[in-house]
Amino acid sequence: MTTRELIKKILFIEIIKGLALTLKHFFSPAVTRQYPYKVKIEPPPGARALHALAKYETGKMKCVGCGLCSAICPTKCISIYTTEGEGHRKVVERYEIDTLRCVFCALCVEACPFGAIVLTPHFEYAGYDKGEFRYTKERLLDNWDRYMGPERGRDYFERFWVPKSRDFRGGG
Ligand code: SF4
Ligand code: SF4
Repeated sequence: MTTRELIKKILFIEIIKGLALTLKHFFSPAVTRQYPYKVKIEPPPGARALHALAKYETGKMKCVGCGLCSAICPTKCISIYTTEGEGHRKVVERYEIDTLRCVFCALCVEACPFGAIVLTPHFEYAGYDKGEFRYTKERLLDNWDRYMGPERGRDYFERFWVPKSRDFRGGG
């Protein structure tokens, strides 16, 4: 140990320096941000949060019930129930996502050939009951109107999701 280090140790220089720093910050204003009461957080465009089922401009649901999103989902949190309709077409009776199990990987978005499922930037959802996090088809379609809508939806596919699949038909 050098003489300089020894003097520092004897005089508690480092401790005094630390205390001085604490004292300096003691009277400065608090840096706590009062979220969500005073501070609003705007997620960046393209942020991955709550799901929505997309609609065409006519208001028709894009999902055809093919089940690709459900098949690729790593946490198996998408459940789809279909029946057979006119011309052997599938009718999506129920489409549900258990958002508590979702890891927001967006594989469902990538897998969908119709651009029918999206992750909206809306992340401020909370609840007191587990059931509130189970999003039904109706709630997911409502999320589209609330958080995406036609313009934001188009932007979403043009800027953030450029599907590789040649048969993609969902951007519009
Ligand atoms: S969201 Fe897309 S991938 Fe999933 S069932 Fe509907 S059309 Fe198929
Ligand atoms: S984001 Fe990932 S985990 Fe969530 S529903 Fe889609 S595929 Fe499943």
